[in-house]
Amino acid sequence: MNNTLMNDEAQKKSVLTPDQDYYKDIFHQHANDEYAKAIQLAQNRVTDFLKNNQKPFSGIRPDEMKSKVENVDLDIPLPDYESLLNEADELYVKHATAYHLPEYIAHLNCPVVIPALAAEVLISAINSSQDTYDQSAGGTFIERKLIDWTSKQIGYSENADGIFTAGGSQSNLMGLLLARDYFSLEYQKWNIKLDGLPPDASKFRIFVSDKAHFSNHKNAWILGLGEQAIIHVGVDARYRMDPKQLEKAIAKEIEKGNIPIAITATAGTTDFGNVDPLTEIATVASRHNLWLHVDAAYGCGLLLTEKYRYLLNGIELADSVTIDYHKSFFQPISSSAFIVKNKLHLNIIKHHADYLNPKEQNYDALPAQINKSIIQSTRRFDALKLWFTLRYMGKEKLGQYTDTIIETAQQTAAYIEQDENFELLCHSDIGVLVFRFVNGLDQSNYCNINQYIKEKLFFSGEVLVASTKVNGKFYLKFTIFNPLTTLNDIKNILKLIKQNGNDYQQLN
Ligand SMILES: *Cc1c(COP(=O)(O)O)cnc(C)c1O
Repeated sequence: MNNTLMNDEAQKKSVLTPDQDYYKDIFHQHANDEYAKAIQLAQNRVTDFLKNNQKPFSGIRPDEMKSKVENVDLDIPLPDYESLLNEADELYVKHATAYHLPEYIAHLNCPVVIPALAAEVLISAINSSQDTYDQSAGGTFIERKLIDWTSKQIGYSENADGIFTAGGSQSNLMGLLLARDYFSLEYQKWNIKLDGLPPDASKFRIFVSDKAHFSNHKNAWILGLGEQAIIHVGVDARYRMDPKQLEKAIAKEIEKGNIPIAITATAGTTDFGNVDPLTEIATVASRHNLWLHVDAAYGCGLLLTEKYRYLLNGIELADSVTIDYHKSFFQPISSSAFIVKNKLHLNIIKHHADYLNPKEQNYDALPAQINKSIIQSTRRFDALKLWFTLRYMGKEKLGQYTDTIIETAQQTAAYIEQDENFELLCHSDIGVLVFRFVNGLDQSNYCNINQYIKEKLFFSGEVLVASTKVNGKFYLKFTIFNPLTTLNDIKNILKLIKQNGNDYQQLN
């Protein structure tokens, strides 16, 4: 195929020549009309999704969903965007979980803000890669400015730095990686990057609370320390790490001949939305020269509220922090960051490739974000979404959304507590409430009833609640994550839960 320049005639009319028609599906300078058409049609489906999906879930069962997808022959393409989008409707959109509805109250999925969606249009089409300046230009500096801005919200000095990542799990991995390698370099004069794990690496210990995110365990494994390296510290009545028990746990490991290297505190636990006592934990960390990583994947939204910012007091004492903008900053997936208090520590991650970021390059003059990236080379310009959000909506508005969520959660907690049909396990700093339906005489049946309720609601598609186990017992879990959700919405959900609980008792 000859794809040289258009002739004058075609250029005037802006029509594609036969050759160019063959290439119309490539995003390029002569494909304006095709691009506009495709995006417009796709966008119509998005507005239909908002119009048509009135329940958070269709209730479709996995076997039916699977066979719909299985029946597609991937080797026979569809003739036009209309049929393509019709198929996508059947296979995806109709059955997609609608996080923006108040009846979706299950996991840490936020509704997303529209300026970030506008940014997505630019991000995916222009498709910059953030690894080097020559692949991103403005993208590099926009990302850097947002990292600096986030560092400032944390309370770090200008000595901080960081990078956008794919998610909180990855950011937590970076935290533990730096903790491990820094420990070895500083205290053992051992360079893990060059020489692999030191002989006593199997003695390294990382302290997390009982309610810390599971990514800590996976990350310890990925880092070659094994899950055995994770020491669970007991929690208080609100499932926050207990600093006294932390101190004891550290002493116990030292006594056993093991080597404490780091603590991960959680600012906003996934199960309870509570913030570990950061200042007290930081004191313990500094007493023992341990790296302190704060996992604020969920709690980072508190950075933006004036009213509740105090809950994160002490976060500025951490050596590194995980931020999930795609949770508490209402950003579309993916958008996260890893921030480190002392930028020199990021040097541990640097690796030079001659074709991309050669060693002799002056990175002040010609920056390369890849120097700070742990596993992604080619990396999306996710930062633009946060940029659009801050530039259009402003930080204050985001903070107020979080205030609203916290207050709705407080009202909900009070409402659940006064209803004898329910037992609330504990209050939340942010918006996660763990409770169960307890109406009925036989306590041994509580787990079954609550499991029944959750499943029944899920397959009706009416309401999506989550669940968790506490001390081996099954509980329902509300994650209140939508500022549009009102106490009244939640009262209706609780009414449905009650109805289903009563149904179960009639059936059994
Ligand atoms: C969600 C979550 C994570 C993991 O973040 P991802 O973006 O899902 O990888 C880590 N820690 C906590 C406390 C979380 O809630």
